[in-house]
Amino acid sequence: MIDFNRPHLTGNEVKYIQEAVTDFRQISGNGVFTKRCQHFFEEKYGFKKCLLTTSCTDALEMAAILCDIQPGDEVIVPSYTFVSSALAFVRAGAKIVFADSMERNPNIDAETIEALITPRTKVIVPVHYAGVACDMDRIMEIAGKYHLLVVEDAAQAIDSFYKGRPLGSIGHFAAFSFHETKNIISGEGGMLVVNDDRFVRRAEIIWEKGTNRAEFFRGEVNKYGWCDTGSSFLPSEIIAAFLWAQLEEMDSIQSKRKALWEEYYHRLKPLADTGRFHLPDIPAYATNNAHMFYLVCNSLEERTAMIQRLKEHDIQAVFHYLSLHSSPFYRTKHDGRSLHHCDHYSDALVRLPMFYDLKTEDVEKIYNIIAL
Ligand SMILES: *Cc1c(COP(=O)(O)O)cnc(C)c1O
Repeated sequence: MIDFNRPHLTGNEVKYIQEAVTDFRQISGNGVFTKRCQHFFEEKYGFKKCLLTTSCTDALEMAAILCDIQPGDEVIVPSYTFVSSALAFVRAGAKIVFADSMERNPNIDAETIEALITPRTKVIVPVHYAGVACDMDRIMEIAGKYHLLVVEDAAQAIDSFYKGRPLGSIGHFAAFSFHETKNIISGEGGMLVVNDDRFVRRAEIIWEKGTNRAEFFRGEVNKYGWCDTGSSFLPSEIIAAFLWAQLEEMDSIQSKRKALWEEYYHRLKPLADTGRFHLPDIPAYATNNAHMFYLVCNSLEERTAMIQRLKEHDIQAVFHYLSLHSSPFYRTKHDGRSLHHCDHYSDALVRLPMFYDLKTEDVEKIYNIIAL
């Protein structure tokens, strides 16, 4: 059986958890491992301020609070994304205005955004699908023109770039995920990035249950108290210790995944050239971080047949998002526009097995079934 995903362990996870528990004796949050992980990202990618969270969803909820979303504010989100990209803002009272995907890849079509802006628009949420960058220059230009904030949903976008700039460093905020289905994992886990100085202090307070406890522990104030809204967004040191074991091995994890991705691509290219399906399209401004390997079939029927054929050979391939604008929760609130590209990806995109411990022979086997 070839699973769709299998979490990869580097070997030091339990050792570092043991250290957190017995050596440092701090298992609540914001300890040695949390700081180590946050500094790693700040230094490697130039993110201004990083705060670990218990999930990417939590990081997006923090971003919604920091954007000061009020009931009735509008947030532009692609319809082809995970629920959390929209839900975090809905919880704060926002109305979601769904945007379509591009024809060439599932990312938000930046050229359609301007027409969706109204006086109530506050935020744009570009989602870097499969770790491939959205057209961030265009999105930041529109945001600047209309004084909007940009929250990058970088859940899948670790170690990926737009015109040489790290994803997560371009928007006012970014949210990453370390869920066990991502490249770098901690079971559940995430991180908020704050790139705009204006929001750094407030972010830390919201993270720590609305208190200035982080400042107190740095010795900047002599007592701490209730300053603002917030929640308990920070993960325990047990999660941070696990994450550190993964971050130390990031380069080898990334290069292994990229090699597997290339193997898929080169094997499948001749078949794609015959028109049987489309391969992922990576624009010249973007890099590939090998988060996912997907194909876009020509129809729902062809995709169903492909998933079935792979399943008969013990290979687990899976479809992905169902358009959020036609979801049971949001369809009655959606303004009725049809979003064709998004619906096509909902019907026709299929993801193939992709994980660190996948073997080149497995890719060959999968290719042989697809080629039948
Ligand atoms: C995985 C994912 C999320 C949610 O991440 P969690 O850490 O599970 O909350 C959000 N957005 C996108 C695009 C994702 O892929």
